[in-house]
Amino acid sequence: SLPDRAANEQVRRDDRAHVFHSWSAQNLIDPTPVARGEGATFWDYDGNEYLDFGSQLVNLNLGHQHPDLVRAIQEQAGRLATIQPSMANDVRGELARLITSKAPDGLNKVFFTNGGADANENAVRMARGYTGRRKVLTTYRSYHGSTGSAISMTGDPRRWANEPSDSSVVHFFGPYAYRSPFHSDSAEQETERALRHLEEVVMLEGPQTIAAIALETVVGTNGVLIPPPGYLQGVRELCDRHGIIYIADEVMVGFGRVGEWFAFDAFDVAPDLISFAKGVNSGYVPLGGVVIRDEIADFFGDRAYTGGLTYSGHPLGCAAGIATFEVFERDDILGRVRRLGSEVVAPTVADWASRHPSVGEVRGRGLFWAVELVRDQGTREPLVPFNASGADAAPMAELAARCKASGVWPMIHFNRLQIAPPLVIGEDDLRRGLAVIDEALAYTDKLAA
Ligand code: PLP
Repeated sequence: SLPDRAANEQVRRDDRAHVFHSWSAQNLIDPTPVARGEGATFWDYDGNEYLDFGSQLVNLNLGHQHPDLVRAIQEQAGRLATIQPSMANDVRGELARLITSKAPDGLNKVFFTNGGADANENAVRMARGYTGRRKVLTTYRSYHGSTGSAISMTGDPRRWANEPSDSSVVHFFGPYAYRSPFHSDSAEQETERALRHLEEVVMLEGPQTIAAIALETVVGTNGVLIPPPGYLQGVRELCDRHGIIYIADEVMVGFGRVGEWFAFDAFDVAPDLISFAKGVNSGYVPLGGVVIRDEIADFFGDRAYTGGLTYSGHPLGCAAGIATFEVFERDDILGRVRRLGSEVVAPTVADWASRHPSVGEVRGRGLFWAVELVRDQGTREPLVPFNASGADAAPMAELAARCKASGVWPMIHFNRLQIAPPLVIGEDDLRRGLAVIDEALAYTDKLAA
């Protein structure tokens, strides 16, 4: 696109004067004005081009301006732009049917929300209603959203300033082999010890007080933590034993990010409630929801479910969701994610781990990877401290700046560079973006022993 400095300045001026941004000290940020996007690329008003390696908060699974999604929204807008949730609506019903067709047996209903946080709020509300219990167990190193219960469920620093919000949430340690809270030295040990720890937490909290255990199937923002073999089955078994509802938070990893419709499909386990958002329609129109096991849906058969949202199942969002399913099937999106993940990203990042002294560990699946940066591969000291900001975070900011200067917009969180491009990224672009990161890692290597 042609540079347009006047527009650039106007966007900047309005933003700085009137837009209050998320999670930020307002004077310490400098949001980049974005002029347009297409596929895996977006452009600023100066004509600079960026490969989008974070998919705008791991949201744009089908990339910028996908023609099928844009067309579906345009057509729906021309026909029926909105309708209240208590009406029946064709696209809302069709999308619910499509989503449940990909869910495990026995999950046949969808409650639609506006996004991920309220999906988790409602999953918890359903679990509490159904079990008559109050407590919710979630892991440290997790993110579940920024509203009442969802921020309490969150196991990262974003929770700290918002406490106490929902005092019935209890945190436990999930598996994280590279920095094992259980001092284990194999995946099997990590599974076994993590399950024993959770079992003990359940015992000490009182199983009859626990409504739900909620887990990001693959922990997203907090590090692409892949559950070791057997862990999720163990959680499922523990939930069954005590009548606890298993909530799978699939907001970030559902709908293709790790090469599956739902990430738990890769781990051979079926939850009771699934919260989803983002990839269901690549965020073109805000949409999330909860997929509900029959027994829980039936519980609210003759008694009211006491929750609702004006925008629940918004027709524009649902139309984009239906188009998402069509594109996934027609273009074999899951197949290409698996292939690009295993044939392009996996070997490339494995090579980084062997060559770059600042790379402590690489891990991931499909098109979702974390590169964990360290000062020392032996001690595994993180390149920047946990929750680093300002000067402490400078090395990661400099790494990001170097990637951006070479046309790649990375996803950075604490001491990790995470790789999450749109699932439609071309193989050449993917390789080019990875090569840029490879080169930028020469900088962090200088900081490592
Ligand atoms: N759950 C997970 C795993 C997420 O990654 C996010 C957002 O990043 C959320 C919930 C919250 O979703 P939203 O920002 O749509 O409320």
